[in-house]
Amino acid sequence: MGLKDELPSAIAGGQIEAHYQPQIDPATGAFVAAEALSRWRHPTLGVVLPASFISLAEEEGLIDGIDEQMLEEACSWAGAWQERGVSRQVSVNVSAGALTTPRFFRHLTAAVDAAGLARGVLTVEITETQEVADLALVISNLLELRERGVGVSLDDLGAGHSSVERMTRLPLSEVKIDQSLVQKVTDTSTALIRAVVEHAGERGLRVVAEGIQTQEQLDRIRELGCDRAQGFLIAPPMPRDALDELLLEADRVGRFPNV
Ligand code: C2E
Ligand code: MG
Ligand code: MG
Ligand code: MG
Repeated sequence: MGLKDELPSAIAGGQIEAHYQPQIDPATGAFVAAEALSRWRHPTLGVVLPASFISLAEEEGLIDGIDEQMLEEACSWAGAWQERGVSRQVSVNVSAGALTTPRFFRHLTAAVDAAGLARGVLTVEITETQEVADLALVISNLLELRERGVGVSLDDLGAGHSSVERMTRLPLSEVKIDQSLVQKVTDTSTALIRAVVEHAGERGLRVVAEGIQTQEQLDRIRELGCDRAQGFLIAPPMPRDALDELLLEADRVGRFPNV
């Protein structure tokens, strides 16, 4: 059996789990948020990364099931901290196509209501791997999410499929600059990031730089005024338990450790 045949029962059987990658405020070093990223805990292969199953799930019409589980888990994580009086934001990845599925959209709004998260705690990151047939429906669904206090982020800006046109048309609260732009420290990439930060500033959007691997990259995006930094230099994606330990440690010392 290949991954394709195993995926439906893996989703139904709880083999897809969430890992979380911290985001910091580069100006203060504060631990402000985490992105939930799916991992397939395969019985014989070990941990399988999204590159090996997300597009498969999209092709097979199974992505909604994964996104729904990730959403519930992420809301539960943020909700547990909210109950303890600690406010941390959380982001989940949602395939753009899923936003046009009424079932998925109902599930999304129900999960948000059930978790009772404060406004602004949850952000959905829109990843565009496939062409969206009904952009008008995506936009109206995103507007409804915004009204409910859910943030909307455009993922992978600068990666090619996440276009500047999308950036201007969608009702966003955040953009994530793709790691390809973040990791090249050149005059051209600096000018592009500066232009994104400027445009975002005019629209009141938060800017997250992802894929930060070196101190030089972190220093540059701090100087350019990006609001958040995420990447292996800060921390890799990790299981919920490890994230919670890191969060407690960050709160104890007042900033993210070791950055
Ligand atoms: P993404 O949303 O852009 O997530 C960031 C990816 O970059 C993650 O890969 C993360 O592990 C990786 N990353 C973080 N910091 C660094 C760094 O410093 N250097 C490098 N080289 N990579 C870094 P991951 O977890 O393998 O996920 C890949 C993509 O799969 C995600 O990209 C997202 O588009 C998609 N994905 C992951 N989980 C889900 C999900 O639950 N639902 C959907 N629809 N898509 C998902
Ligand atoms: Mg993402
Ligand atoms: Mg990304
Ligand atoms: Mg991506």
